[in-house]
Amino acid sequence: MYACGPTVYNFVHIGNLRTFLFEDVLRRWLKFRGFKVKLVKNLTDVDDKTIRDSQKERLSLKDFTEKYTVEFFKDVDSLRLERADVYPKATEHIKEMVVMTQCLLKKGLVYKTSDGIYFSISKFKKYGELAHLDLAGLQAGSSGRVLADEYEKENVADFALWKFWDVKDGDVFWETELGKGRPGWHIECSAMSAKHLTGLFEDGFDRKKFKTIDIHTGGIDLLFPHHQDEVAQTEGCVGKKFAKYWLHAEHLLVDGKKMSKSLGNFYTLRDILAKGYNPLAVRYVLLSSHYRQKMNFTFEALDGAVVVVQRLNDFVLRLKEAHAELSLPKVEKLVAKAKKKFDKSMDDDLEISPALAAVFDLMNSINKLLDAHKLSRDDAQKVLHFMHDVDKVLAVLQEDAPLSPELERLLAERESARSLKNFARADELRDELRKHGIVVEDTSHGQRWKRVL
Ligand code: AMP
Ligand code: ZN
Repeated sequence: MYACGPTVYNFVHIGNLRTFLFEDVLRRWLKFRGFKVKLVKNLTDVDDKTIRDSQKERLSLKDFTEKYTVEFFKDVDSLRLERADVYPKATEHIKEMVVMTQCLLKKGLVYKTSDGIYFSISKFKKYGELAHLDLAGLQAGSSGRVLADEYEKENVADFALWKFWDVKDGDVFWETELGKGRPGWHIECSAMSAKHLTGLFEDGFDRKKFKTIDIHTGGIDLLFPHHQDEVAQTEGCVGKKFAKYWLHAEHLLVDGKKMSKSLGNFYTLRDILAKGYNPLAVRYVLLSSHYRQKMNFTFEALDGAVVVVQRLNDFVLRLKEAHAELSLPKVEKLVAKAKKKFDKSMDDDLEISPALAAVFDLMNSINKLLDAHKLSRDDAQKVLHFMHDVDKVLAVLQEDAPLSPELERLLAERESARSLKNFARADELRDELRKHGIVVEDTSHGQRWKRVL
């Protein structure tokens, strides 16, 4: 599975993260269903934007992109995105890009001009098919050229695989067989996906070794031109199908509008965490609507997610305390029904809403049994088992996350203050723990704690 990764020229925003979360859910679900998944997610560390902004910040391209790569991984970890198997960097795959461009030159699909090497889209018959462009219109009207990495559908044109050095590029260039210059954005992903997933570069370079990728993903804005251009380059070079399945995540909107700095509705994860939100609530809100639908982010929805994630966590804690003697046959049936609906929905193009509804229905029924002290330990285990399966995909439960040594120390100190009947100190410590998201309750068997969001 190849997922287009971030352009490391800034902190990623919550729109990017929605797409990355969709990819995380997809991969987790495939793994849950028994598939072996190798996920490759690239880091775009050279393109028009990274060069432009590294110059603004007066940093070398490497120092500049390193800085945002480090920040990207912080966001990945705090949202519990499982790490990809490989995170290839574009700057470390120039050789493969050159070889693929040479392959296309030999086949006559690309041509040189004074400023770069371009793909001749009229020579690739299927150009436009992936993005559903009007093929007839294209053949009649196209033939401009575009040097920039990003361009709109209205400007369909021959695009650059290699850009000859220009003073604006400063010290960013590679001396290669293609000439002094740098790659276009699209050839980067063709080369990195080929290198890490297809076998094309296993023994130097061998087109016979190329195997089609199973799944290629990204946000919907990448469908054209980026993915269309990847298809043209890779299929043009190897003469085989590039990817079997393409999955694109729709955009995240904020308050119903496109996120943009000028509208003041542009958020990074750190902006949201700085307001005191727990990353698990952000994770939940971003994954709780279907990936092919536009999603409207609001703080009300995020507040709602805080409540839901807390309820899921509380539910699991309650299950662990179930103690009724008698098991009830209906619990097993309820769990089986929930599981069936959850699995069926996720199998159906990751239909998350009915899948979540199955979990909530079960939670409501079981909570009633818990309220009435009618859930046995055995029955609770069955429900817990299901909740743990669900969490392999949702990843919003906190039960197993270890406490920091500092929190362990505060809890121990409170326990001993209580046993020494120093209640003033015990209350102080309770307040201190609360500030760290830990709520302590006193029971007849001593203190008990839980995390709150
Ligand atoms: P970029 O760093 O711009 O290449 O984007 C990284 C990923 O985020 C790509 O898959 C984009 O399609 C995706 N993306 C960009 N903006 C949004 C958005 N507003 N909503 C969802 N995904 C987005
Ligand atoms: Zn890409």
